[in-house]
Amino acid sequence: MNRSHPAPSSAANAARRARRLAQLDQRYVWHPFTQMRDWLRREPIVIVGGRGATLYDARGREYLDANASIWTNLHGHREPRVDAAVRRQLGKIAHSSALGLANEPAALLAARLVAAANGSAGRRPGAAPPLAKVFYSDDGATAIEVALKLAYDYARRAHGATKPRFLSLAGAYHGDTVGAVSLGHIDLFHQRYAGLLFKSDTVMAPYCYRCRFNRARPERADARDYRRCRWECLDQVEGRLAAQQRRGEAYAALVLEPLIQGAAGMIPQPGGWLRRVTELARGNGAAVIADEVMTGFGRTTPAQPTGGERRVRGDLFACQREGVRPDFLALAKGLTGGYLPMAATLTTQAVFDQFLGEYGEFKTFFHGHSYTANQLGAAAGLASLERLQAPGAQARRQRLAGELEQALRDLWALPHVGDIRQVGLIAGIELVRNWTTRTPFALTEQVGARVCAALARRGVLTRPIGNVVVLMPPYCTTASQVRRMVGALGEAIAEVLSRA
Ligand SMILES: *Cc1c(COP(=O)(O)O)cnc(C)c1O
Repeated sequence: MNRSHPAPSSAANAARRARRLAQLDQRYVWHPFTQMRDWLRREPIVIVGGRGATLYDARGREYLDANASIWTNLHGHREPRVDAAVRRQLGKIAHSSALGLANEPAALLAARLVAAANGSAGRRPGAAPPLAKVFYSDDGATAIEVALKLAYDYARRAHGATKPRFLSLAGAYHGDTVGAVSLGHIDLFHQRYAGLLFKSDTVMAPYCYRCRFNRARPERADARDYRRCRWECLDQVEGRLAAQQRRGEAYAALVLEPLIQGAAGMIPQPGGWLRRVTELARGNGAAVIADEVMTGFGRTTPAQPTGGERRVRGDLFACQREGVRPDFLALAKGLTGGYLPMAATLTTQAVFDQFLGEYGEFKTFFHGHSYTANQLGAAAGLASLERLQAPGAQARRQRLAGELEQALRDLWALPHVGDIRQVGLIAGIELVRNWTTRTPFALTEQVGARVCAALARRGVLTRPIGNVVVLMPPYCTTASQVRRMVGALGEAIAEVLSRA
């Protein structure tokens, strides 16, 4: 782990400073999703710098940022062009209000986001209308909150709905504000707040590895590839949508993460599922809210197909991989390349038009945040989009996805690896007690957390979701860094689970 070797006196200074910062943190900072009693038991890693895929701590140690700083970072840390764009913007102004004022980078970014989000999807006849408007906010949760409120009011205004309801997927996670939590179905996080939430309905997600309809025995391969089923998951979605419509009021929206559910445990959808459920939603009167907070901005770029028989499209969003166009598109994490908190909810002209009227009709969308359309964030977002769409950038992501795929193959040799799920530059490795039976570890064993701690000791940082270890490298990650991430993960699994 000690890959840099500062001189002894400076090392002692660094250690003192690291301890001081860690003490301040432990005295004053309450960390998200963290059992603080455990946190206070050991000195935390204090990050003081980064470059590319590498993070540096206050003691001078180096780590690979294997989950892209909780899925936000795209190009690596201190990407020179994003750095420069933020500095240039600082030379003008950091922030001005979007209440009553427009600004340069936010206007430019909105135009580019709309163009990128429409991309090559849905040009075919009968395609859903394009996305046309951008509502800015600050985080993934607020982007979802905005989509939720817009869809709710749209259902009432356009369709005369009296009690708009929402359908979302089992295990869904859409953020931690009360509206976003209401759409979520992770009992561990959400049940505590049941009294605060509105009711939303849930339908099974296609989790091939643990699907009750999958009759295949486990193999050493992605369960999507060897599953044996009759797409019962689609029947379930259709059943829910149709039943709601028969009750007289269609769902206001079906809410989903396209191609892969993230915090649910990195659960990927078999090819065709997304396109089909979108058709089912529309056919049953429901709008589609696509939460691309994790999947957006090139994360799902597939590896170049072997033989190159099929050209991979250059689209940046997961929906576009199946030619799907949502009515609402929520973006956040990667929007600024991982630099600043900023989010956007894109929607159609038809939704926008429902909010037009004379002032006194009070059809205004009464929602906003103080930092909405933040100029620094928008400048970072523009520079990040430019990097994503630069010549060669797509090919580079495809190469990295291929390198990740290649490296992950070695992990099948480990008996406690049950499933390896990859969608582009997102991977989840599900650890099980016994791969032949898929028997899970109890959550209280904290297997994922222990493996990640062993991984950190090897200079690789990521966080688990229960028993699923996540790898989500920044796009600048080199082939040898990918091999180091995955190699260290193999060692960590072997170390922690050798006696399990
Ligand atoms: C992270 C995440 C959110 C919430 O975003 P925040 O910026 O953390 O509020 C919502 N949806 C998905 C799919 C996410 O991964």
